[in-house]
Amino acid sequence: TVTEEEADDTDEKEEALAKVTYNIVFVTSEAAPYSKTGGLADVCGSLPIALAARGHRVMVVSPRYLNGTSLDKIYASAVDLDTHVKIYCFGGEQEVAFFHQYRERVDWVFVDHPSFHRPGNPYGDIYGAFGDNQFRFTLLCHAACEAPLVLPLGGYTYGENSLFIVNDWHAGLVPVLLAAKYRPYGVYKDARSILVIHNLAHQGVEPAATYKNLGLPPQWYGALEWIFPTWARTHALDTGEAVNILKGAIVTADRILTVSQGYSWEITTGEGGYGLHELLSSRKSVLNGITNGIDVAEWDPSSDEYIDFHYSADDLSGKVKCKVALQKELDLPVRPDCPLIGFIGRLDYQKGIDLIRLTMPEILQDDVQFVMLGSGDPQYENWMKATESAYRNKFRGWGGFNVPISHRITAGCDILLMPSRFEPCGLNQLYAMRYGTVPVVHATGGLRDTVENFNPYAQGGSGEGTGWAFSPLTKESMLGTLRVAVQTFKEHKSSWEGLMKRGMQKDFTWESSAVKYEQVFEWVFLDPP
Ligand code: ADP
Repeated sequence: TVTEEEADDTDEKEEALAKVTYNIVFVTSEAAPYSKTGGLADVCGSLPIALAARGHRVMVVSPRYLNGTSLDKIYASAVDLDTHVKIYCFGGEQEVAFFHQYRERVDWVFVDHPSFHRPGNPYGDIYGAFGDNQFRFTLLCHAACEAPLVLPLGGYTYGENSLFIVNDWHAGLVPVLLAAKYRPYGVYKDARSILVIHNLAHQGVEPAATYKNLGLPPQWYGALEWIFPTWARTHALDTGEAVNILKGAIVTADRILTVSQGYSWEITTGEGGYGLHELLSSRKSVLNGITNGIDVAEWDPSSDEYIDFHYSADDLSGKVKCKVALQKELDLPVRPDCPLIGFIGRLDYQKGIDLIRLTMPEILQDDVQFVMLGSGDPQYENWMKATESAYRNKFRGWGGFNVPISHRITAGCDILLMPSRFEPCGLNQLYAMRYGTVPVVHATGGLRDTVENFNPYAQGGSGEGTGWAFSPLTKESMLGTLRVAVQTFKEHKSSWEGLMKRGMQKDFTWESSAVKYEQVFEWVFLDPP
């Protein structure tokens, strides 16, 4: 028998589910845990699960990357669906296959083709980006458009009324194909597409002559047409003509989202628009931003499998133990009282890594310790090594991509520094807040949206805010803010505890982002495609 209380509980759960449900198809070049180089993978690994939990039917289409290492195991539970599709592009016929795994109520679909089987990450190897990425992601897009029509997942196809969520340029041909290849033949008349921009800096730009390879009718050239400004041309005969896949998606998608509200505004400005700001401004009426959530099960200081001591906002005692464990692991002097500052992220100009390098000698003049984890530009990996030798008692730099260590740094540090030049959303500041690690960030994009500036006098003196967001992005302003944070840590214990706890109690779950996505789904189906 069901008690009244239990019945109420069930009612509440049912009420929490979406009223209208959709057949949703995510198209992405990365989805964690299968493939990951950055935040895109985290989003496409988590948001689909949150939406499926709310009652939607959700498929994620990404490539089946095999790179010849132990990472290939991850695809072992995906079975060959024995459905082959022929794709006409690049002057020939390509055949792709589909693999499938049903996990956490989501259909994970992997597109199989030999060009996805090679050493390296999804985009390149030690020699740089693959030369045929336009080809590889053209295949992904064509295959993703076929998937809802041909794959009888769980007995039924997703069908023509699907809602495509296309992520970044790699998936950008999908809305163009819906408009140019399918709708003229009466297919996908009622489908909709939403472009999610995770990073506008990458647009999939290639010479204009490659247009004919994409499998699009000639009359659609204008949608992708892209003219470089004169200063960006390489020689006098260069006409600057190119194709830009992200531009094609911006023009044809029914709605455009970015991964924070701040970033959705920034990309309409000359500074943040990477040449697309005018086009994006003209599409303002369909442009919006939704801040990413985080995987609160993977990133939970009270149960994290990668850290030896656990803690929560109610009992912070494990935090300092994590710090000591990290200091021991890094062979730094074990000093709970010494502020430990961390950086995690790609060693890239976007992340302000040049500013960190420039400022490091002054940062390390103070009584602090600093640990960095990052991969990317080799000159910065070398710089980290050199800095480590010069400051044995204060600095450690870990070159590489290492998830367990990123958890231990997030848990063990007191402060996380993120001087990103631009940041569409940023995840590390969210993880940091959840672990009571106080973020010091450049006030841009998602960083400005999610980190509330500390104000010790607010709330009748009990303080408010979860960190520091500095501006402008200069050495002086970064160093000055970092010093205020360090001083607060050292001299104002109760203020620091307030900062930690307020950050830890913030709601960064995917559920709250998923509800906002649903509002956009309702909105997109109100208008014809
Ligand atoms: P972006 O997508 O621009 O790289 P985000 O902050 O949105 O930046 O996401 C980066 C993700 O990749 C986070 O989950 C972060 O923890 C992870 N990450 C970045 N560099 C490393 C690294 N060297 N080792 C482990 N994880 C990393």
